[in-house]
Amino acid sequence: MTLSVAVVGGSIGGLTAACLLRDEGHDVTVYERSVAELEQRGAGIGFLSATSRYLVERAAVSLPELSIATDHIRYLRRDGSVAHDAKHRYLFSSWNTVYRRLLAHWHAGGGDYRLGHEMTGFDQSDDAVTVQFNDTSEGSGNTASDGSSATADLLVCADGVGSSARSWLQPNTSSNYAGYVAWRGMVPEAELPADLATKLTDAITYYVYANSHILVYPIPGLDGSVEPGQRLINFVWYRNYLGSDDLTDLLTDRSGNHRELSVPPGAVASHHEAEARAVAAARLPAPIAEIVARTEDLFLQVVYDIEVERVAFGRVCLLGDAAFAARPHAAAGSAKAADDGWALADALRDVEAESVPEALNTWEPGRLVLGRSLLARTRDVGGRSQVHNTWTPGDPDLIFGLHRPGD
Ligand SMILES: Cc1cc2nc3c(=O)[nH]c(=O)nc-3n(C[C@H](O)[C@H](O)[C@H](O)COP(=O)(O)OP(=O)(O)OC[C@H]3O[C@@H](n4cnc5c(N)ncnc54)[C@H](O)[C@@H]3O)c2cc1C
Repeated sequence: MTLSVAVVGGSIGGLTAACLLRDEGHDVTVYERSVAELEQRGAGIGFLSATSRYLVERAAVSLPELSIATDHIRYLRRDGSVAHDAKHRYLFSSWNTVYRRLLAHWHAGGGDYRLGHEMTGFDQSDDAVTVQFNDTSEGSGNTASDGSSATADLLVCADGVGSSARSWLQPNTSSNYAGYVAWRGMVPEAELPADLATKLTDAITYYVYANSHILVYPIPGLDGSVEPGQRLINFVWYRNYLGSDDLTDLLTDRSGNHRELSVPPGAVASHHEAEARAVAAARLPAPIAEIVARTEDLFLQVVYDIEVERVAFGRVCLLGDAAFAARPHAAAGSAKAADDGWALADALRDVEAESVPEALNTWEPGRLVLGRSLLARTRDVGGRSQVHNTWTPGDPDLIFGLHRPGD
C-alpha cells in the first residue's frame, strides 16, 4: 500500500525518515522552511552507527568517506600534560557532510525537497491530514504571507529542537534550559603547527575543570574532505549561565536581536566573544586554548532537556529533536532522530491508509522509552561536569552511545 507522506523539516532526522519511507514504496515529499539548502549547522558530530546506518546500508557510502576515526580518549591537565589516556575508537563527522550525502541520495532517487516551505499549522480528519505552509520558495512569486497546503495520509514533524508542531500538539511540554551553553568553533588542521595537529587528531581530547568541560576532535573539512591536512579541528565547550538576564544577554546578538536556541558564527556579541577568548587563554590547557584562539568566529548553542509525553497524534508524529531533545553528552541526537525513522518505516510496512493512526500507536512506546532513557543519561552526565564536579576520566558511563554507553 502506498501512503502519501509529508515530512516537515529537511535535516538529518527528516531526510533519513523520508529516504526510508520512500524505500518502502511510499510517496514522500519533504518540506523545509529554509529558502536555500542548509549549511554549516551543528559543526562536528560524534558519528554513531544509527546516524550512518542509512548511508552505509542503502546509499553505498562507506564510513571512511564520511568520517574520521580517533583511537584514544585523552584527558589533559591544566599544564597540558596527559592526565588519562585510554584506547577507544570513535568516529566523527559533521552535520554538513551527513546532510549533503542524504540530500544527494534523496535527489538521485527523484525525491521532492521543497525549500521555502514553513509549516504554519495542520488539520486532521479520520481520513487525512492537511498541512498549511508559508510558501516563500524561489519561483513561487509569493511573499512571506502567502500560503499553500498539502494533504497526506501521514505528517512526520521533524522540525527540530524549536518544533512548532510540538508546541501545538503538547503545549505543556517542559523545555528546560540545562543551565549551560555549548561554545563551539572549528579551525582548519592545515593552519595548526604540525605537532599540535598530530596531538589533536588521533584522539578526542578533554579538559574538565570547575563546573565546565571542553572536548576537541577532528571532523571533515567544509567540503566533506576527510584527508589529513583537509580536516577541521572542532571544539565543544560547555559553560554555565544563569537562565535569567545572564543568558538573555548572551543570546542577544551583535545586532541587538534576541535569539532562542543558538547564536551563529559572526553574530555573538563582541563582549561575550572577548570574554570567552580571555577565559580560554587563562584557564584551558595550552593546546586547547590555542584552538579557541585560532577560531575565526565562535558560535554557541543553548543546551535544553525537552521531554514529551507522546509522539503519536492520530496521523501526525514527532520525530528527532522535535520529540525529545537531549543534552549532547551522549553524541546521540542525530542518531536518535535517524533511529526514530527506522522504527517508523518498520511500523508502517504494509499498512493501509486507514490504519496509519494504529501503526503510529505501535511505534510510539519504543520511542518514548528511548527518548526518556537518553534524557536521563545525558542529564546525569551533564550534571557531573557542570554542577557536581564528579566527572571521572575513564568512567565507562561517559562513553558516547544512543541506547547505552558504547551502543
Ligand atoms: C552542542 C551540540 C552538540 C551536538 N553534538 C552531537 C553529536 O555529537 N552527535 C549527534 O548525533 N548529535 C549531536 N547534536 C544533536 C543534533 O545536532 C540534533 O539532535 C539533530 O540535528 C536533530 O536532527 P533533527 O533532524 O531532529 O532536527 P534539526 O537538525 O534541528 O532540523 C530541523 C529542521 O526543521 C526545519 N524546520 C523547523 N521548523 C520548521 C517549520 N515550521 N516548517 C518547515 N521546516 C521547519 C529546520 O529549518 C531544520 O532544517 C548536538 C547538538 C548540540 C546542541
